[in-house]
Amino acid sequence: MAGLAERAAIAVRRHRDHDAAAFAARHRDWPGWARRAAAARALAIALGVSAEDVAVADDLDRRYADGRYPGMVLTVTEPVTGCAWRFIPDLTLAPGAGWLLLDQCPGCGEAVPMAAITALADLGEYLAPDPEVDTAFDNVPSDHFGDPVHRPGCSHAALT
Ligand SMILES: [Zn+2]
Repeated sequence: MAGLAERAAIAVRRHRDHDAAAFAARHRDWPGWARRAAAARALAIALGVSAEDVAVADDLDRRYADGRYPGMVLTVTEPVTGCAWRFIPDLTLAPGAGWLLLDQCPGCGEAVPMAAITALADLGEYLAPDPEVDTAFDNVPSDHFGDPVHRPGCSHAALT
């Protein structure tokens, strides 16, 4: 494993490459920067990855508090495979306690909340459901329905 100084240099390079303007302006919204860092750490711990493998950005599709605040999207990129997973916070839980995995909607194909994740096993259950138990849509989070990213006319777009 690289030393602290080397890992810090890698971390700052990632931020500059990923979102240079937001990184440079982080001191103007220090609490927001701290919330993003805390969110990345919490998700990294839950999934057993490095916090540096979690990139946090504004959610351009979802806003909260009557549209006043953008949500956040956390992208976990596996260093070995380059595979990326996207999550949004589960606002029904305390901050850092749970996330919603964004994946293809079976109705329209857009990336919408498909699974509630609080631990690595939740992701495992979504990726490899128990064939003996038909829970295909039993555990779809309530935020799946009515998510603003569904295409018009998608049967999953309606609130239930
Ligand atoms: Zn849909």
